[in-house]
Amino acid sequence: MTQDDGLKIVKIEKENEDTTSIYFTGPDMERFKNRKPGQYASIRVFKDGAWSAPHPFTLSSSPKDETLRMTIKRSGEFTSTIPDIEPGTPVQCAGPFGQFCKDIGTSKEIVMIAGGVGITPFLSVLRHFQETRADNAVTLFWANKGPNDAFAAKELEEFTKSLNLHVIHVFSRVAPEDQAALTAPAFDDGRPGKISHEYGRLTQDIFLRHIPSTNASFYLCGPPPMQQTVLEVLSSFGVDPGRVDKEAFVFSPKQS
Ligand SMILES: Cc1cc2nc3c(=O)[nH]c(=O)nc-3n(C[C@H](O)[C@H](O)[C@H](O)COP(=O)(O)OP(=O)(O)OC[C@H]3O[C@@H](n4cnc5c(N)ncnc54)[C@H](O)[C@@H]3O)c2cc1C
Repeated sequence: MTQDDGLKIVKIEKENEDTTSIYFTGPDMERFKNRKPGQYASIRVFKDGAWSAPHPFTLSSSPKDETLRMTIKRSGEFTSTIPDIEPGTPVQCAGPFGQFCKDIGTSKEIVMIAGGVGITPFLSVLRHFQETRADNAVTLFWANKGPNDAFAAKELEEFTKSLNLHVIHVFSRVAPEDQAALTAPAFDDGRPGKISHEYGRLTQDIFLRHIPSTNASFYLCGPPPMQQTVLEVLSSFGVDPGRVDKEAFVFSPKQS
């Protein structure tokens, strides 16, 4: 059995049917102190008298938070056990790891593109921007099947109150007759951010309607097939795939 390193689950929050956030902390938080927004860590959970295999997840909280948060979508055996975890469950956590979004704060114009649970590194970056009162202009495209899948919609709406953030929800499976009932909220409280809705796939038209400049810094997190399509679309209007910072949640043995 591997050694318990003192971290324990302190909160479990159901984000939607498939996605759950877990929060954990412990006496030795010192080693996570210098983590960067967008990084990930690898956890083992102690359950039924044994430690699970390690699995990597992005730290979706901000680097300043005392508690580590991971936002986990059910995709297989291990992730299906996450909603049933109890507070007090021991966790081991290796990390932080990764370079995604490194130096993102130095870019004045930022375009983030996320597919589904690929939003997690951007939740961390945006919370970090909020805490540091950053004034970077951020355009965030978040692709989901429909509004029920957009589990962080409220969290993003909250960020628009203080950040120069334009969130564009792109829903691929909302029937045309249902789209009118889903109008994006229009805020009249003088907030710097805003929210828009688009329907269908992430096309050139949708990008060009919203991105402030092709010279912005681009960040992309989503499954490999979505990444490939998005990179082709971006290159069709002059954004070189080589200058897009990318993260795919794909297993590689050195990450666990
Ligand atoms: C850098 C990184 C960051 C990630 N961040 C998030 C996140 O924020 N939220 C989220 O929901 N998911 C994230 N993932 C994906 C997550 O790690 C996998 O979905 C999860 O480990 C699958 O475990 P499972 O047993 O439930 O699924 P399984 O059914 O066992 O496998 C589903 C998929 O996960 C892969 N997989 C299996 N075992 C492992 C393992 N030990 N480690 C990694 N992958 C494995 C399989 O190859 C398969 O493709 C991230 C992955 C990486 C590499």
